[in-house]
Amino acid sequence: MDNLQALKTRVKTKAGELGFNLFGITTPEPPPHTDVYRAWVDAGRHAGMGYMASERARSRRANPRLILPTCRSIIVTGTYYDPPAGPQPAGAVEARVAAYAVGEDYHRTLVRRMEALAAYIEEQLGRPFAHRIYTDTGPLLERELAMRAGLGWIGKNTCLIHPSGGSYLLLAEMLLELDLPPDTPFDSDHCGTCTRCIEACPTACILPDRTLDAGRCISYLTIEEKGTIPTELRNRIGAWLFGCDVCQQVCPWNLRFARSAPDPAFAPRGILDPLQLHRFLELEAGSWRSELRDSPLERPRRMGLVRNAAVVAGNTGRADLLDRLEMLMMKDEEEIVREHAAWAIARIAGARSVETLKRALASEPSEQVREGIQRALSSISRR
Ligand code: SF4
Repeated sequence: MDNLQALKTRVKTKAGELGFNLFGITTPEPPPHTDVYRAWVDAGRHAGMGYMASERARSRRANPRLILPTCRSIIVTGTYYDPPAGPQPAGAVEARVAAYAVGEDYHRTLVRRMEALAAYIEEQLGRPFAHRIYTDTGPLLERELAMRAGLGWIGKNTCLIHPSGGSYLLLAEMLLELDLPPDTPFDSDHCGTCTRCIEACPTACILPDRTLDAGRCISYLTIEEKGTIPTELRNRIGAWLFGCDVCQQVCPWNLRFARSAPDPAFAPRGILDPLQLHRFLELEAGSWRSELRDSPLERPRRMGLVRNAAVVAGNTGRADLLDRLEMLMMKDEEEIVREHAAWAIARIAGARSVETLKRALASEPSEQVREGIQRALSSISRR
């Protein structure tokens, strides 16, 4: 045991050197709140994320030993990223991207660092050891494991919150066959009577049992949703092009404790430095990937990003983007892009766009898009 305690101390020091800010160990016993996760899936709150609902996914989340049968302990790390800029005056915001996503894809960064940590452990042991590494990439209840590893509590906004660092952090885990001594679980709730995140959520997606109605969450709608964004939620998305930070921005624990955590890996880069909305409307099928390589923004692919950019253009009233939106509505290969562009044109130009929309309606081959254009026209006549 002494040897394992000494090894844990060395591994924790090494984790800090590699850039991990928080470090804890827990056991592979079934995580707490597994019943809440099951009830969430049963209620269909996972929306289109079917990969979270299969029986296999459920069983593995409830029992880490189904992932690694020899698992004896789990390392959980937390890495802070720079908080988002505060509220900005209307007109000053081109578009917003969740703060964790402006730099290199954290999946790559954190897995690379975890692999370096595994190599260090191997060096210390003088032999290979069985392990699995995850960072939001596998069937683990990450926040529950982090809580049990002593890293913080799960807030009403569903984020893991550290009592002296806030919630702008990324989690990563290593399941391993070594019996590293566990840390004391974090068992207190510091949300108290606060409900700021619930009140601030633009789409009212935060549920009373510390879960989200994913189908209403802006992060889901702008990242995971592969189809149409429900018309009634589009204006609530505001300027969010990818993800959303609202429930974290209002949290007193972030207002008090979140600090700059400049990590070169997470600094804005490429098309996000500086972020210009028109560049997302101009993404081309043949070249979008090279513009977004190694960025979390690859996930919604070109269709999702242009769709989101049209929604943001509509919400921010960007008349200077009308020509581009019209071109997308008339000519884009993706039905979803054409329909969202029509919505944005109607929202920006109102009655001035009726002729343009009618022209598009006359030449539109897709019934689904024609219905969308009709809705856009009706929304103008109701104003
Ligand atoms: Fe908890 Fe308030 Fe933060 Fe929401 S805003 S997570 S209720 S402390």
